[in-house]
Amino acid sequence: MLNNNPQQVAVIGAGIIGICSALQLQRAGFAVTLFDQHGLAQGCSKGNAGHFATEQVFPLAERALLKSLPAMLFNPLGPLRIDWRYALKASPWFWQFVKNMRTAKYQAHTRALQALNTQAIEAYERLVSDYNLSHLITKKGSLLTFETTSLVNIKQVLARYQSAGVKVRLLNQAQIQQLEPSLSKAVNYALLFSEVAHSVDPHWLCINLAEQFSVLGGQFCQQQVSAIKPQQQGYHILCGAQHYVADKVVVAAGAWSDRLITPLGYDVPLDTERGYHCMLDIKHGLSRPVASAERSFIMTPMSQGLRIAGSVEFAGVDKPMNNKRALALIPHANALLSQGAASSTLSSTWMGCRPSLPDSLPVIGEAPLHPNLYFAFGHQHLGLTQGAITAELIAALCLKQTPAINLQPYSISRFSAQATCS
Ligand SMILES: Cc1cc2nc3c(=O)[nH]c(=O)nc-3n(C[C@H](O)[C@H](O)[C@H](O)COP(=O)(O)OP(=O)(O)OC[C@H]3O[C@@H](n4cnc5c(N)ncnc54)[C@H](O)[C@@H]3O)c2cc1C
Repeated sequence: MLNNNPQQVAVIGAGIIGICSALQLQRAGFAVTLFDQHGLAQGCSKGNAGHFATEQVFPLAERALLKSLPAMLFNPLGPLRIDWRYALKASPWFWQFVKNMRTAKYQAHTRALQALNTQAIEAYERLVSDYNLSHLITKKGSLLTFETTSLVNIKQVLARYQSAGVKVRLLNQAQIQQLEPSLSKAVNYALLFSEVAHSVDPHWLCINLAEQFSVLGGQFCQQQVSAIKPQQQGYHILCGAQHYVADKVVVAAGAWSDRLITPLGYDVPLDTERGYHCMLDIKHGLSRPVASAERSFIMTPMSQGLRIAGSVEFAGVDKPMNNKRALALIPHANALLSQGAASSTLSSTWMGCRPSLPDSLPVIGEAPLHPNLYFAFGHQHLGLTQGAITAELIAALCLKQTPAINLQPYSISRFSAQATCS
């Protein structure tokens, strides 16, 4: 039955989380307006590694990291960097990060990541199958490669994934060469995650989903939202001097989400792990994402070439990118590819702000103090992976249905006692 008077929903942020949520809500019968200050998918969702990384069920805050952390921090172009001018600002985040290494927390967060990741690819399949967009998701698995790690240690990593229910197989060099002949023979072993998928153009995926949203009648508004003002009924969305009226609001503003919700009384330790990519115009021959355990980076075959991505930099959302960090990825690709990447043309470099919380979990749920205000941010390294499942959960909440996953672990109340419903 046609709903002639649908409820108005404002979704703030047109990254993968906001776009998937807006499309899912429009499908559910709401009249949705999607806001973004910079256009569609111009933030972190534009240049990620395109890996639907459902195998990544372990939180980043793990004890083993403490051993390698000091060496990493002293290498200015290493995989992890804290800008010393930002160190003081980042210190509360790091303190919480370290506290999350406790075994009980680590195990609980692993379960919470598993719950989202297990359903992540199926949620995309449900979303894209109605629009003939299934070709935008390639399901060929992914490889995690090892050059120097001992077989004993690799088997421990394998066992850890298996005990977390991840489908994975250990490959030797001959098996790797059969699967990916363009990988260097420096790669001795690899774990093959067979259930994993990738996108050959994550930006294009966003644009296609946004197009379906507008075909269904959704509105896109290129404006910066300056504030969300609760009214007796619903909300005013302030964009400078203009305001829009909405019955429900979804905050999906990635690494900038805290700026919108702190004034409403929600104190959340959101920071950004800035990441980088290089696009190489290269005949690489890879057919699936290939990550390196020792080098902490990933190469994904994309429609415009090979994307090499990685790096974690704590320097805040406002500082310009440091191109050296992007270029530092190239020697790693050289080492892993038999032909090397050195002879290829570098077509672009990019930096994006991963929205990260110190427990590696996103915030998904209704605001405890504000009915009909919903949060969908903080997806850290897994925003592409968890876009469609997050959208399903948000749509269920807006429809006042019971979500398919228990949302308690993702509640904002885990950070601010003040924001707990009485
Ligand atoms: C190098 C790199 C590689 C990655 N690889 C992967 C991967 O392979 N797989 C994976 O799952 N994830 C990956 N990620 C992480 C993933 O890209 C992010 O988790 C995801 O893009 C976050 O999506 P988002 O929609 O929350 O944020 P964003 O894409 O950043 O979108 C937020 C949007 O909100 C808008 N906004 C903010 N404030 C306002 C405001 N006040 N008014 C209006 N608009 C506003 C911004 O302009 C922005 O467009 C990677 C990230 C990086 C950096």
